[in-house]
Amino acid sequence: MTFSVTILGSNSATPVTGRFPTAQVINHLDRIFLADCGEGTQIQLNKYNIRLGKINHIFISHLHGDHFYGLIGLVTTFHLFRREQPLFIYGPAGIREIIEVQLKASQTTLVYPLHIHVVDTENVSSVYEDEYLTVSTIPMKHRIPTCGYLFREKPRPRKMKPEIIDKLNIPLALIPKLKSGQDFTDENGVLYKNEQITIDPAPPRTYAFCSDTAYQVSTADIVANADLLYHEATFMNDRIDMAHKKFHSTTVEAATLAKAARVRKLIIGHYSARYDDLQPLLEEAKTVFQETYLAVEGAVFNV
Ligand SMILES: [Zn+2]
Ligand SMILES: [Zn+2]
Repeated sequence: MTFSVTILGSNSATPVTGRFPTAQVINHLDRIFLADCGEGTQIQLNKYNIRLGKINHIFISHLHGDHFYGLIGLVTTFHLFRREQPLFIYGPAGIREIIEVQLKASQTTLVYPLHIHVVDTENVSSVYEDEYLTVSTIPMKHRIPTCGYLFREKPRPRKMKPEIIDKLNIPLALIPKLKSGQDFTDENGVLYKNEQITIDPAPPRTYAFCSDTAYQVSTADIVANADLLYHEATFMNDRIDMAHKKFHSTTVEAATLAKAARVRKLIIGHYSARYDDLQPLLEEAKTVFQETYLAVEGAVFNV
């Protein structure tokens, strides 16, 4: 049951020191979602063999260039590849104008349907839902309207105990109902409570993507108990004043949030170009939250 995050870009602001601006691939049951689309995202998608045809939904956190300058390139490539299925883009107000003005100036009429949804960055609000997954916004505290995105699995149906279907001669047509919690009465009138014939499914998993933001404690409630949290950590803690001035977070702040939210694992990223060596950032975050990992291009994290 795949649910993974691949880092395509880990840097803030500019593509330097061999790192790319923010972009992540979220693979849920072989459906590919993109979170942010910084410059160079297409190059990274190629490099890590992500099939473009599987990308149907792109979530943009905010309209600072390091989070969306790759978008028009990707939108246009889909056009050149004569994509047929619709593409959905989600982002703060202004996202529609940015795409439309570029298409208009290049006199491009896309061969596929493009749906652009402006999201509410101020409140937690649902932006996407399918049979298996929901995605909602996480309000961030940044210089311009910004939100993270919470990818949450829906609870799965209960599982039938092994052998029980044959043993009790359960009609196959009844199984979906039993998986949704119904009791079962056999042909002799014997009642079996649901917990006698089914077992708990695997618990639903959650991935929280938080970029860019100043530290705000209210985020901890929204991402509470997430299996995996990505939280930006642009600076080390000796530059906390700079972080506050620029509405970014430090390593210690990201780790403090992960601890307060009782998440299982933390990924930090969106590093300032001033850091060539990322080990000190990792070590500093780990002093607060041990299960911290570095976002590094090509790294894959299971949720
Ligand atoms: Zn940024
Ligand atoms: Zn920003």
